[in-house]
Amino acid sequence: MDSLGTSAGCKQELRPPPCPACGVVGWWNGWVLVAQMVVDAAGVAERLVEVPRHRARCKVPDCPYGSWTIYEAGGYPHRAFTLAVATAAIAELTLDAEATLTSVARHWDCDRRTVARWRTWVAGIAAPAALAKLCSHLDPDGLPAPEPEGVATPGLVLLLLECLARLLRVHGVPLEAGPGLGALLRHQFERFRVVSWLTRGSPALLVVGGMAVG
Ligand SMILES: [Zn+2]
Repeated sequence: MDSLGTSAGCKQELRPPPCPACGVVGWWNGWVLVAQMVVDAAGVAERLVEVPRHRARCKVPDCPYGSWTIYEAGGYPHRAFTLAVATAAIAELTLDAEATLTSVARHWDCDRRTVARWRTWVAGIAAPAALAKLCSHLDPDGLPAPEPEGVATPGLVLLLLECLARLLRVHGVPLEAGPGLGALLRHQFERFRVVSWLTRGSPALLVVGGMAVG
C-alpha cells in the first residue's frame, strides 16, 4: 500500500461511481500511473511518481461518456501540480511580503513562469465581489475577517474561496477535504464536467452549491 492508501492496480471499490451522464453503475476500465506534485502532511511539496488513476466504463451502449477518468482525492484534470500546490504557492506569493516569483518557485519545486501562470489563473477564477456576495448570501456574518491592506487580487480570491468552501460545507455541500480553491473546482468538475484550464484562459467558477457565481 502506498501513502494514498491504495495500491496500484487494486480497485478501491468493487464497482466504480455511477456514470456522470446516465447515472448507471458500470465497470472499472483499467488505470494509469501518474506523477503528481502534492502538498504533504507537513505542508511541504512532495513529488509522487506512481499515483494510480483509474478509469471507468459505462455499460449503456450509446452513452456519450463511454469511459472516463476517476480522479483520486486532490487530483484534477491536466495538472501535474495539484491545485493544493497552486493554492499554497499563490497564498505564499500574495500574502507573504517577502516572497518573490523566484523564492516561491524554489519552495514549490517549479518554474517561476508556472507561478506567474498560477497567479493570473487564480485572479481569473471569480471576481472577489461575486465571491463576497455568495459568502454573505450563505451567512450574513460569514465573510472572512477584513482583508489585510494591499492584498493582491489572487490572494483575495484565495481567501474568499476558502471562506466560501467553509460555508458550503456547513450547509452540507459535499466538498472534498483540502483548500477551498481545489475543493470548489473539483466539485464543479464532478457536477458539470467543467475544467478550469491553466493555459487556455480558464472558465471562471460558474456555480457552487447550486448558486451561480456573479
Ligand atoms: Zn453512461
